[in-house]
Amino acid sequence: MSNDINELTDSASAGKATMEKITSLAKRRGFVFQSSEIYGGQSGAWDYGPLGVELKNRIAAVWRKEMTQLQDDIVGLDSAILMHPRVWEASGHVENFTDPLVDCKKCKTRFRSDQIPEDKLAAKICPECGGELTDTRKFNLMFRTSIGAVEEEGNTIYLRPETAQGIYVNYKNIIQSNRMKIPFGIAQIGKAFRNEIVTKNFIFRTCEFEQMEMQFFVKPGTDEQWFNEWKKRRWAFYEKLGVNTNNLRWHQHGKDELAHYAKDAYDIEYLFPMGWKELEGVHNRSDYDLTRHAQFSGKDLQYIEQETNERYTPYIIETSAGLTRTLLMLLCDAYDEETVTEKGSSGNTAEETRTVLRFHPLIAPITVAVLPLMKKDGLAELAQEIKNELREDFSADYDQSGAIGRRYRRQDEAGTPFCVTVDYESKEDNTVTLRFRDSMEQVRVNRTELCARLHEEIKSYKRI
Ligand code: ATP
Repeated sequence: MSNDINELTDSASAGKATMEKITSLAKRRGFVFQSSEIYGGQSGAWDYGPLGVELKNRIAAVWRKEMTQLQDDIVGLDSAILMHPRVWEASGHVENFTDPLVDCKKCKTRFRSDQIPEDKLAAKICPECGGELTDTRKFNLMFRTSIGAVEEEGNTIYLRPETAQGIYVNYKNIIQSNRMKIPFGIAQIGKAFRNEIVTKNFIFRTCEFEQMEMQFFVKPGTDEQWFNEWKKRRWAFYEKLGVNTNNLRWHQHGKDELAHYAKDAYDIEYLFPMGWKELEGVHNRSDYDLTRHAQFSGKDLQYIEQETNERYTPYIIETSAGLTRTLLMLLCDAYDEETVTEKGSSGNTAEETRTVLRFHPLIAPITVAVLPLMKKDGLAELAQEIKNELREDFSADYDQSGAIGRRYRRQDEAGTPFCVTVDYESKEDNTVTLRFRDSMEQVRVNRTELCARLHEEIKSYKRI
């Protein structure tokens, strides 16, 4: 490895991501592509490429583990996207799930009126071209379609705008089938759809997206305590993923922001390149949801405490995060550029900038890449063999093309935390070089200990 001793000359990491850089890296490396790109693209929709789908699935798996396996009394659910239309009347979405919109009569741009300066709105002046704005109209964000062969009144069905309602309508089923006792939670990950008008900022706000939601059912009176508890647990989740906590903050909903049903609500916000934006909501939804579904369905949704026979409608503490928005956050948070000095084979040093995604190994799309120093002399075969061993436990990649330094750069840019390099020594003494993405340090490890060592490194990972 003599020709690739790198030295870190600049390690500051904050604030290097711009939306332009993230979007371009995401496309270049196959994280995210524009939907239907060859037809000019479909706004508000994105496709997750080979690295993107791995990253998304891993974030989902980490969330699911955190919210079910590592918790007492939280169970999973996967409810249908299509639900009875009365659900959305009961939830208030038919009536209230609206954005206030204005159009410019001149340039035809459409705006959310809460997102243009107040003076411009009052004077009805377009912030883009100075043209005249229309009056504010309410626009429902639910996608509406029809079910059945004939398109007529009564066949209306909605694409769900949130996954939470699937949980509320299954609450009784889950109590009965799984003998759940309050307090307990139901967690689910799934697609949601909103007819968003302003969909700029890449995958931040899209028409089709995924949510990771957990609804925790509690006895009235214990709701505030559970609300505070869930605030703590959700913050700890991001810490565990190694997110830079300087870029996270709480935002409490003021009286004007609070949804009509909510008793209290906080958002975890992240400092995206375009500013502080909501990442996840933690809400005390009171007994609104179950009360409404009981009214609209005519079913008794009260909980009966076995010991005391006490009946009540549970309060719900909700934690609601966007999976695709979390993916964007993690891309931004992991993004770093640094100047490194690389010693070439001639002994000369050259400065270059490396782009690196400092993903936590638990979510990195590729955990380990195996690289033969040379293709010849049996090194490629040996490296393949090692890769085949490692892929039983880890997502493993194999790359033999180009100079070793270039290959490290490619893996850095994909966020691969570990590289294993197979060289001539490996053939002699069964050792390989293990290279760490963040520090670029290299250590010699016996092949027989490699797998256990990687497990250990993942478990003890701390972002530098
Ligand atoms: P926003 O204020 O950004 O529109 P919201 O308050 O409507 O969000 P919620 O209804 O609380 O969002 O949804 C919970 C989470 O789902 C959000 O914190 C966000 O991470 C995600 N989310 C909501 N809408 C979208 C969207 N259009 N695209 C991507 N993710 C979204």
